[in-house]
Amino acid sequence: MKIICIGRNYREHAREMQAEAPEEPVFFLKPDTALLRTNRPFFIPDFTREVHYEAELVFRVAKNGRHIAAHFAQRYVDAVAIGIDFTARDIQTALKMKGLPWEKAKAFDGSAACGHFFPLTEVGPLENLKFELFVNGHIKQSATASEMLFPLDHIVAYVSRFITLRQGDLIYTGTPAGVGPVHRGDILEGLLNGTPSLKMKIL
Ligand code: MG
Repeated sequence: MKIICIGRNYREHAREMQAEAPEEPVFFLKPDTALLRTNRPFFIPDFTREVHYEAELVFRVAKNGRHIAAHFAQRYVDAVAIGIDFTARDIQTALKMKGLPWEKAKAFDGSAACGHFFPLTEVGPLENLKFELFVNGHIKQSATASEMLFPLDHIVAYVSRFITLRQGDLIYTGTPAGVGPVHRGDILEGLLNGTPSLKMKIL
């Protein structure tokens, strides 16, 4: 399986990163070794001094497809969870300045945490999905799916023009404003429509 991540998909997050809102989806990949399964702790790697959390809606691909039409996109996903796109921000900033790829900052082991999945049949209309991230009990990020610059249907159609989607792939749909650093001992909790999906410790 592979992990497809969308960048800058919320206007206020693009602004806090001092980046332009993109004209078409920006995506990058993480390998399967990046996946950190439900509720496992995240160990801050020794190669970075600044790891940020990015809470995101994560959709699970239900069947293989390529060149998927936007109006069929929801047939290709079957579940949603809260995930964290852990980012070595110091490394990413240095790579960006040199115009280099982001893998060292984004694709390292354990950088794609994923919470409990809920079947899409149980969560109501996708555009109404609401999610929140709490760090040590304090709310840090909150958004609804309708705030995405590119909604899931558009993402699935766009990405599948370039890369075949396979059953079991995960799509991280971008983070809203409010990203920040994690520290040893922090507890991250992600809620989907008010229901816990993710709870994990930083070590
Ligand atoms: Mg992200």
